[in-house]
Formats: sequence, structure tokens, C-alpha cells
Amino acid sequence: MDDCIFCRIAGGEIPSAKVYEGKRAVAFLDAAPMSRGHLLVVPRAHWKDLAAVPGAGAGEEEKAAYAEVCDVVRAAARAAVEVFGGGANVLQCTGEEAGQTVGHLHFHVIPRPKGGKVPPEFVSGAYRYADDADRAAAAAALRDAIAKAL
Ligand code: AMP
Ligand code: ZN
Repeated sequence: MDDCIFCRIAGGEIPSAKVYEGKRAVAFLDAAPMSRGHLLVVPRAHWKDLAAVPGAGAGEEEKAAYAEVCDVVRAAARAAVEVFGGGANVLQCTGEEAGQTVGHLHFHVIPRPKGGKVPPEFVSGAYRYADDADRAAAAAALRDAIAKAL
């Protein structure tokens, strides 16, 4: 897409600090990093977010593109641990409500060096179900929707 910044980065039209260039995916440093080495993994193909990636109906090329993205995310997490020590967060924002600001699928890989604090947004217990029935209703809705999306 001509007006998509990540399509243009993937195509080399806009400069970036690339750390991986594959047939179907690229990775580059985030311009406004949350930590040293914070990078983004993006497919060369334009999907607006994770919910837009096709499931069972995907063609071979789409499956290969998604598989390459996932494998680069895996490799980037391992690289973050190796290069910076400590751990890494993988973050993917689907939709504006989730904080997505660039409408081209991307996974953040955010190195978390030893000695740093776990960021407050990742501390568990931020949400409480009203009761067991409420929790069961949420699980049932997701179970059905996941089965449909596979
Ligand atoms: P998100 O909020 O998940 O959509 O993340 C978008 C990310 O893209 C942000 O962390 C931005 O800092 C990053 N970003 C936007 N433009 C560029 C760019 N030209 N080069 C590198 N990173 C970018
Ligand atoms: Zn794009």
C-alpha cells in the first residue's frame, strides 16, 4: 500500500535500522523504543492487524508469510536474551483500542535487561471477573470464536 509507512519501510523506500530482511518479513528498530534494542517484526504483505490474517482459508503464500513472521519473532526474542541478557516482551496491538497506531501488522520485541522492573501494564490481576458465571461466559464466547477463526 502506497500510503502505509511499514509497507514503505519493508520496500526500502523509507530508511530504517533493519536487523532482518527475508523474503516475506522484515525486522527493524522501533523509532521510539521502550528499551535498548526494541524492534518490530512485520510481514512484507499488508495485513492491517492480527485479526486480519486469514486462518483456514489462507493461501500457501499467506501461510508462508505468517509463518516467517512468527519465526522471526521467535528468533528476535532469543536474540534479545542473548544480546542484552534478561528477557523480552512480545507485544502485538490489534486495533486502536489496544494502542495500535500503525495499521500494518507488527510484533514488538522488547528486550528487558536483567535488573529492570517488570512494566506495570504486565502485572497480573488488573482485571477481575464479577463471579464464576461471568468468567464462564467470557470463556464460552472465546471458545466458540476461536473455533470459528481457526
Ligand atoms: P503500535 O502502537 O503497536 O501500532 O506501534 C507502532 C510503532 O511503530 C511505535 O512503537 C512507533 O514508535 C513505531 N514507528 C512508527 N514509525 C516508525 C518508523 N518510521 N520507523 C520505526 N518505527 C516506527
Ligand atoms: Zn502496509
